[in-house]
Amino acid sequence: MPVLSLQNISKRYGAVQALTNVSFDVPAGCVFGVLGPNGSGKTTLLGIVTDVLKADQGDFTLLDQPASARQRQQIGTLLETPNFYHYLSGYQNLKIAATIKQRGADDIERVLKIAGLTARQHSKFKTYSLGMKQRLAIASALLGDPQVLILDEPTNGLDPEGIAEVRALIRQVAQSGKTIIMASHLLDEVEKVCTHVAILRKGNLLLSGPVSEVISRNDFVEIGSRNNQALREVITRHPEYVSVVEAGVVLQVVF
Ligand code: ADP
Repeated sequence: MPVLSLQNISKRYGAVQALTNVSFDVPAGCVFGVLGPNGSGKTTLLGIVTDVLKADQGDFTLLDQPASARQRQQIGTLLETPNFYHYLSGYQNLKIAATIKQRGADDIERVLKIAGLTARQHSKFKTYSLGMKQRLAIASALLGDPQVLILDEPTNGLDPEGIAEVRALIRQVAQSGKTIIMASHLLDEVEKVCTHVAILRKGNLLLSGPVSEVISRNDFVEIGSRNNQALREVITRHPEYVSVVEAGVVLQVVF
């Protein structure tokens, strides 16, 4: 039984068609990447799945339940950077989140341990590195021991060290048996962290399935420096297909 099953989800904002008939299943226990360039509909999709937004059409079941019956505590979310208090410690910040979720000290200690923050739990949040701040945010999402963790671009804005820490934490949480659904605009990240992927382009589902099957297909390839001769030719012929370019490096070419 899939953890999440989407059937023909569509969403429009005024004149912008953000999602068109998107359907895919997320198997239990996988790390599922929702991959696509900025503006492809990833955040909208995660918003619908977490009941922050309502789809115009289509339906979905999460943990085999329709929206009306869904148990909120079974789903942990990190959709935007939480408003942590800079002058409070990591522990105190989690205490506030735990109070809202009606969780006790044992749960706070559990998630601090998972996030590798036990030794620094009493340090002020403002002294944390970028990676530690994001690990605290993931720890907060894990309060209540949800079965499913939903993360929107969890490594965005981090330094290389923070990116490595957060990716390691995601893999560790997955190994503990939770299903993780995460948005990313980086093919490289999906290849390194995810077992399954759905690729969105302009609100349409391009492909979905196990990363090993989907990414090996020719209709989605990486990548390299713009100085690469073959890549330069592709870009010249099909500029519309180059979906993500960062710091002169082409990260995605979608055919
Ligand atoms: P992604 O997360 O892949 O960057 P989004 O889901 O944020 O994509 O956006 C999909 C499309 O919907 C984009 O064209 C974006 O500009 C548009 N969009 C997103 N949110 C809104 C909104 N609140 N109002 C109008 N357009 C929006």
